[in-house]
Amino acid sequence: MKSLTIPVRAGAPRRTYRITIAQDLTADLAAHLESLRKGSRAILVSSPKVWELHGPRLAAGLPETPCVLIPDGERAKRLRTVNLLFDRLVSLNTDRQTTLVVAGGGVLGDLAGFAAASYLRGIPLVHVPTTVVAQVDSAIGGKVGVNHPLGKNLIGAFYPPAAVLTDPQFLTTLSAREFRAGLYEVIKYGVIDSPSLFERLESTLPAILSRDPRALLPIIAACSRIKARVVSADEHETGERRILNFGHTAGHALEAITEYRRFRHGEAVGHGMLAATAIATTRGLLSKSHSKRIVTLIEQTGTLPALNDLSAAACVDATKRDKKVVRGTLHFVLPSAIGRTKIVPDVTPRELTKALRDLGMRA
Ligand code: NAD
Repeated sequence: MKSLTIPVRAGAPRRTYRITIAQDLTADLAAHLESLRKGSRAILVSSPKVWELHGPRLAAGLPETPCVLIPDGERAKRLRTVNLLFDRLVSLNTDRQTTLVVAGGGVLGDLAGFAAASYLRGIPLVHVPTTVVAQVDSAIGGKVGVNHPLGKNLIGAFYPPAAVLTDPQFLTTLSAREFRAGLYEVIKYGVIDSPSLFERLESTLPAILSRDPRALLPIIAACSRIKARVVSADEHETGERRILNFGHTAGHALEAITEYRRFRHGEAVGHGMLAATAIATTRGLLSKSHSKRIVTLIEQTGTLPALNDLSAAACVDATKRDKKVVRGTLHFVLPSAIGRTKIVPDVTPRELTKALRDLGMRA
C-alpha cells in the first residue's frame, strides 16, 4: 500500500496534524520527523516489551536517538510512571525543542503524551502507535492522561500530537488476545458511524483475524478517518465526540471494579457494547435484527472474559464516577441502528443492572 495521509484539526493551538499510514513506515521515521521538526532533537519513549520486539527496527529508523523505556500495561498507567519518565527527561536535558516520539500501545501513548503535555508546559509529541487500539483510536484526537485508583483516565489533558505515524507492521507481534481486544474498538466505529465498515467486518472477519494486511489496512484507514473526522469537529468532547464512548460506560466501570487486572481495555468495551446494545433493544430504540448483527459480530471476534463472579451493583456504582456524568446524570451512548447512535440521559440503574445480569453478572 502507498502511504495514506489523513488530516486532523486541533483547536488549541489551532493547527492541523496528519496521520500517516504505511506498511513499514518505521524505516523512514527519521525522514518523517525531519519534515516536522526541521533539525531539532528527538527522544524515543517505548516499553521494554515493545522494545524487545521492535527495538532494532525503531533504532534503525531513528539512529542515534536516546531511548527511554518505561513500563506499560494498564496498571502502570499512573502518576508514578509519569514521574519516572520526568526523571529521565530531566537527566537527558530535554528542552522545548525536543520531540517525544512515543512508540507503544494506548497506555504508553496516553501516559507519555501526558508527560509531553506537562513537561516544560508542553513539548512536541509524535505518536507511533503499536497496537490496534492505539492505531485506530488512542493516538488520534489528543486525549492524554493516566488513571486514578478510583477511576480511569481521571487525570489528563487534551494535547494534540504533531503527527501520528502508523505502521501496521507492528500488529504482527501482538498476542491473539491483544489483537482481538483491539478489534472490539474497530467494531465500535462500525456501530456508531459506518454501516459499510460494519459490513466489511462481517464479510472479512476471518481474513482480519488472520491479520492479512489486505484486509487489515482498509479497516485501520476507515477507523482512523472516522476518528479524525469526529475529533476535528469536536475536540473537547462537548458534542459529537461523545459517540466514541459507545461501550465505554459499562466498560470503564468493569475495568475499575477489577482494578484494571482482568480485562484488556477492548474486552471491557466489548462487554460494554453488549450491555448498551441490550438496553437499546429493550427500549425499542434498536431493531432486533441490527441488535443480533452487533451481538454476532462481537461474539465471532472472540470469547470475552467471563463476568459471572462480578457484581452488577458494584459495576453500576462505578459508573457514577464516570467522566460522562454531567450534573449527576450519566449520559449513555445507545445504538439506534448500525451506523447511528443516540445519547440518552436517562438510563436507570435498574436498566443497566438488568443488562449486566443478562450478560452473566451476579446481583
Ligand atoms: P496497552 O498499551 O496496555 O498495550 C497492550 C499490551 O500490548 C502491552 O503489554 C504492550 O506492551 C503490548 N504491546 C504493545 N505493542 C505491541 C506490539 N506491537 N507487539 C506485541 N505487544 C505489544 O493497551 P492498548 O490496548 O494499546 O491501549 C489501551 C489504553 O488506551 C487504555 O488505557 C485506554 O484508556 C487507552 N485509550 C485511550 C484513548 C484516547 O483517546 N486517548 C482511546 C482509546 C483507548
